[in-house]
Amino acid sequence: MADCNPHQLIRIALKNCLTSISEKEDELGKLDAAAGDGDHGAGMTRGLRAANEALSNATDDGPAGMLLMQAGSTFSDAAGGASGALYGMFIMTIGKTLGAGPFETADIHEALDAGMAAIMKLGKSKPGDKTMLDALAPFIEALSQASGQALAKAWTAALPAAEAGAKSTADMVAAKGRSSKLGERSLGHPDPGATSMVYILNAVGKALDS
Ligand code: ADP
Ligand code: MG
Repeated sequence: MADCNPHQLIRIALKNCLTSISEKEDELGKLDAAAGDGDHGAGMTRGLRAANEALSNATDDGPAGMLLMQAGSTFSDAAGGASGALYGMFIMTIGKTLGAGPFETADIHEALDAGMAAIMKLGKSKPGDKTMLDALAPFIEALSQASGQALAKAWTAALPAAEAGAKSTADMVAAKGRSSKLGERSLGHPDPGATSMVYILNAVGKALDS
């Protein structure tokens, strides 16, 4: 990553997230409608659009992590709902942990781990509850195993673990969030937040490859 400008990378990553999630907005909405209220795709798109707008008005004078703190806080306000607060907190915590860098694989791993802990604390949730954590936790675990590699390579190597984790949520009954009220009605469908997490992680991976 030594040859990469972290401010620029964060901007590209957030743009890629918006592109990817707006393409998948309907799919995420339908997944959320199966056991929730159907707003997950719309909320994510709204939050990411606002976060990108906020960054286009922000300068690169501060630490790169500050851009993520701004993006996360704007996301949270604009997206709303449970996932707005949780993804917002996740993004803000990553930014706060990274600060001015460095941005090597081990630093990114540490920041993601802190972000996941923040989701678990705010959501009083854990992997296995059929949430976004079921994609994120295996991804972070896989990233730690690839931490000797350059970031883009390690990230790509960890993506299948996130995909498998999200897929496995189809066999889980939701223990947290709106869908937990419907008990077994959530069976058979992957969790919308775990699914959007896979799209987000893929979009960031594309930025790292570029
Ligand atoms: P809402 O439930 O407020 O409508 P969304 O539909 O945007 O919010 O997001 C739902 C997603 O948020 C779920 O699929 C799940 O992944 C995630 N989620 C909900 N509650 C929690 C929680 N307590 N911890 C972790 N993730 C959660
Ligand atoms: Mg919803």
